[in-house]
Amino acid sequence: MLAQRTIRNKTSATGVGLHTGIKATLTMHPADPNTGILFRKIDGNKVTEIPAQANFVGDTTLSTTLEHDGAEIATIEHLMSALAGVGVDNCIIDCDGPEIPIMEGSSTRFVFLIQAAGIVEQSAVKKFIYVTKSVQVQRDDAVAKIKPYKGFRVSFGLEFDHPVYKKFPQTASIDFSQTSFIRQVSRARTFGVYSDLEMLKKNNRALGANLNNAIGIGDDDVLNEGGLRFSDEFVKHKMLDAIGDLYLLGHNLIGEFYGFKSGHALNNQLLKKIESENAYKIIEIDEIKDAPINYLKPVSEELA
Ligand SMILES: [Zn+2]
Repeated sequence: MLAQRTIRNKTSATGVGLHTGIKATLTMHPADPNTGILFRKIDGNKVTEIPAQANFVGDTTLSTTLEHDGAEIATIEHLMSALAGVGVDNCIIDCDGPEIPIMEGSSTRFVFLIQAAGIVEQSAVKKFIYVTKSVQVQRDDAVAKIKPYKGFRVSFGLEFDHPVYKKFPQTASIDFSQTSFIRQVSRARTFGVYSDLEMLKKNNRALGANLNNAIGIGDDDVLNEGGLRFSDEFVKHKMLDAIGDLYLLGHNLIGEFYGFKSGHALNNQLLKKIESENAYKIIEIDEIKDAPINYLKPVSEELA
């Protein structure tokens, strides 16, 4: 049986949010089969449950924010991407601040936390979102689309008119039946043009951003000591974001995603259209050998 997964032990991390600069602690708990990913905003004695689902997404200006009953948790996408990437189906995540900590800017610390907590298989069959028809959304020249595919493929294209971006690959495509999320995508950090930072900060954005949690782009080079982690780190980070946003459908996806200049707002529009057009069915895969995604091979093999 291809089983649902949760974490073995409770685990937590503390850090500042990229946009708010506010310190928060997130604590991940094991959860029963069919719980899904459930956030809990802890505000003193008030606890608000917010399911990680597309219809609970509020603001998408700079990050993906979950919202329910007056409670908000921003910048969930890198954590969601880590959970999707290692195939954790069920997890309860407490957050005592307005925003999930940015850590070092990618999903790698979240992957490490999950792996250190341990991943366990549960006594329920894993469910997948199986894309049955193509759906596309567009805004100006930006595109996000999904289509049927026997596996999980993510392709992305960027087009920034800036000399530093132009030095590096602006397109990438990964078939997750051939390469792994952890190796190829999870380490890609968020990024921004350094000269924009002052303006963003004046508008109360990116208050927590620095070169320890983001790639800073200078006039003609990357400002971080050590440069990029891989030459296509920018586009890989956009893929990481998309994988996190897609996980708001509630299960790992069997299908192909294509994004061009897409961000959280357009990704969320796509999710809503996928749901309103019923462009998928939920399937269970009984035999591990029939799973088209190699990061869902048995735990021991993946973590070896
Ligand atoms: Zn991101």
